[in-house]
Amino acid sequence: MDCLFCKIIAGDIPSAKVYEDELVYAFRDINPQAPTHILVIPKAHIDSVNGITCDNSAVVAHIFEVIPQIAAAEGLEKGYRVVSNCGQDAGQTVFHLHFHILGGKELSLEMA
Ligand code: AMP
Ligand code: ZN
Repeated sequence: MDCLFCKIIAGDIPSAKVYEDELVYAFRDINPQAPTHILVIPKAHIDSVNGITCDNSAVVAHIFEVIPQIAAAEGLEKGYRVVSNCGQDAGQTVFHLHFHILGGKELSLEMA
């Protein structure tokens, strides 16, 4: 499959890893919109939030267990934002489900 984030998980494209386990991979966004900008992705390919079903949603629960651990490790005790863009109007550019963690400054009400 011609998917950028599947290639990152496979190690075919380099990334700055911040966390990995058997289900999840997290790495720094190449074009950060905040001092801390991390992407958390399932290792199994899901296109977007619209691809979450009862058959694969356990990985989403796991991602939301991992996010606070990453936030703590990154020193985001003052808070952070979790965003997932779904589809054209949201500006989704990579169609492999991902959750942005944004923090390290007081965030505006814009996405980032
Ligand atoms: P979205 O616009 O929500 O689909 O987010 C895709 C994100 O992936 C953007 O914030 C990009 O900066 C980021 N991105 C694209 N290519 C890479 C890459 N090779 N390594 C890290 N982040 C990337
Ligand atoms: Zn993928």
